[in-house]
Amino acid sequence: MDASKNRKQRFLDAHPLCFFCGRQSATIDHVPSRECFRDRVWPEGYEFPACYACNNGAGPMEQVVALYLLMGNHDGTRPTSQFEKLIAGVRNNAPQFLPKVDMSANAKKRALSQYNFPLPTDQPIAKAPIVELPDKNREAFRLFERRLICALYYLHMDEVMPLTHMIRTHRLQAIQKSADQLVHEVIPMLPNGIVTKRQNTNIGDQFFYNWHGDHETKMFAFLAQFSLSFVFIGAACRVEDIAGGEDYLPHSTDVIIRDAADGIR
Ligand SMILES: [Zn+2]
Repeated sequence: MDASKNRKQRFLDAHPLCFFCGRQSATIDHVPSRECFRDRVWPEGYEFPACYACNNGAGPMEQVVALYLLMGNHDGTRPTSQFEKLIAGVRNNAPQFLPKVDMSANAKKRALSQYNFPLPTDQPIAKAPIVELPDKNREAFRLFERRLICALYYLHMDEVMPLTHMIRTHRLQAIQKSADQLVHEVIPMLPNGIVTKRQNTNIGDQFFYNWHGDHETKMFAFLAQFSLSFVFIGAACRVEDIAGGEDYLPHSTDVIIRDAADGIR
């Protein structure tokens, strides 16, 4: 048995259950996926035990979200070859998730008023660099967000999220006007702040979050930010603790969807 096999086996011995569905773990999964980080350098400590189906099944969807995370980043860094590879990957695996580039001038005008996007005054609106996200993208983002909340729950609550839990998630682009307000209002309610990092490598502010968890009721909430790209917010709790939330979906549906996808392959 070589050294990496030893490390994997030790990890799975210490973490025998899949962080997402609770079945027997067989792989080490990265959440958020490595694709979400510049040059695939991911923060330390964000490895999770997963069964084959939960790890492999998420791949194409994670690629889609990674593409949008990198594309939506307005921190001024230039796209790298990783970005080109991601586009090629999504074009191959899930072309229905690529952005629509043929938006009308009117649709772009509406989008400009919704976002703080600075368009030079001498640039015609029709040429504004805005693309539309296909509706299908919600599925990719929803899976990404539900995996993220399950991973953070596993990490901070020291157990697999019960399948009977209800989960609700939401996202905003960082440049949306309402994003700043949301962040400032929600952060004080989530007292544990984490800035992820890697020893000897500066990964900057690519992924940081706040969370709160209650061990007695098993209620958990987080708000995560990816550079200047997206803000994700989510809550998970027992059915009986939901206060007026039709947008909560049972975590058990994630596993039903996963099993259905597994049956197709
Ligand atoms: Zn699983």
